[in-house]
Formats: sequence, structure tokens, C-alpha cells
Amino acid sequence: MIYEIKPLLIGEFGPVHDGIKFRGGNILHEEMVPSFSFYIRTATNHILVDTGFGKIKECEKATNLRFGQKKRIEDILDENNIDPEEVDLIICTHLHWDHIGNIDLFPNAKVVFQLEELGWALSVPVWEPGYIKFFTQPIFKKINEGKVLVVNGDKFINEDIKVIKVGGHTPGSQIVEVCLGERKIIISGDTIMTYKNIEEEIPIGLFYNLEECIKAISIVKEKKCIVLPGHDWRVLEYKNLLE
Ligand SMILES: [Zn+2]
Repeated sequence: MIYEIKPLLIGEFGPVHDGIKFRGGNILHEEMVPSFSFYIRTATNHILVDTGFGKIKECEKATNLRFGQKKRIEDILDENNIDPEEVDLIICTHLHWDHIGNIDLFPNAKVVFQLEELGWALSVPVWEPGYIKFFTQPIFKKINEGKVLVVNGDKFINEDIKVIKVGGHTPGSQIVEVCLGERKIIISGDTIMTYKNIEEEIPIGLFYNLEECIKAISIVKEKKCIVLPGHDWRVLEYKNLLE
């Protein structure tokens, strides 16, 4: 039973050009994009799907991008009545830096990610700007503490929440399917970054495997569900999906 599911806006960063979000997109058109964490409360769990980007100074240093944040993550959690100590699961759609910040704020959380992400995060290829060693350190701390659930493929996390491995954006990208009775919600990470990827069936431009990105669009379309993509401002139209 899901009691609450809502997006938390962690901040914005950019500029991100359209060639990243859309295959063949205009690289001269750029904008700031939102960074989200998604909170899900069930009878037994307090879950976050992704944790957004981390401390701004560290992100600026590592990425050469600009960052904006109206509130500190501690205040965002507080306002939403989320006690960091109570968060017991963090499901990572993938291990890129803008999805795994702030993990050290949640000492009791077990981190869930796909096995295929691990090698890339451990040994970052020079041509891959998304995995940044500095930001993956908290993941390895969690591994040392035994607080990880490494998944290989699709898996039910509980009776209402399932991770589905889609790849595409990264080798081990996963989407998270949440069942609210008859309705389904999919938190799609970056294999589907925006609503336009689905509505106009344009795959993302920053991909590891294009075929998998195209397949993910059809998987999500088939399910006829509400989608919460990784970097679309329209996600903010959903406050609490149960209300
Ligand atoms: Zn991202």
C-alpha cells in the first residue's frame, strides 16, 4: 500500500543543450534543467528514488556547470516531513552524479541499483562524463557497510514497487514502476529525460545504447501510466500523486 508519492525538486543545473535530451536536438538551444528526488511512503518503508545532485560547490568544481537551489536538501526534507534517519531505501535509477548526491545524509538507507552500473562507477571511462568518482564514493561506503541491494534485471522491491532494467542512457539504467491500485506510475530516470521523448517518440541524445532507449519509450507507452521523467519541469505539476 502506497501512502504518499511525490517529487522533490532538489535544484536546477545547466546549461544543458537539446542534443543531450533529444537525438538530433539543437545543440545551440540550451536551458537549466531540474534535478529531482522522488519520495514514496508505504506502510513499512520510506523510500527515495534518486537523491538529486549533491553540494553545489562540489558539483560546480566537478562539472563546470551552473547550479541553482532555492532550499537546502535538509530543509526540503524537513518541509515534507521526511526524517533522513527513517529513509530505509534509496533506489538509484543509475549512478550518474546528478542522481546520487546527498546519499550520506541517509545513514540507515539501503541503496538499490543494477549490477551493471557498478563496474562503470568503480572504474570511470574517460569519455563518460556522467560517472564521477568523487560522487560515487558514498555508494562504496554503503557497500562496505553492507547497505546495498544489487539487482541484476527486473525485481519487485515490495508488492507495489518494481524496478525494471531498461539500460539505454547507461548500461544499468532502471525505471521504477509504482502501482497505485489500478493506476501505475513510472519514474523513468534519464533513459526518458522529458515528456517530449515519449510524446514525440524522440529518444534521448546522451545514450549508451540507442535501441534500448527506443525500446524504453515503447515499454512506457504500452503501460499507459503517469511518467515522471528525470529532467522535465512539467514533473512539478504533480505535487502528491495520491491527492
Ligand atoms: Zn540526470
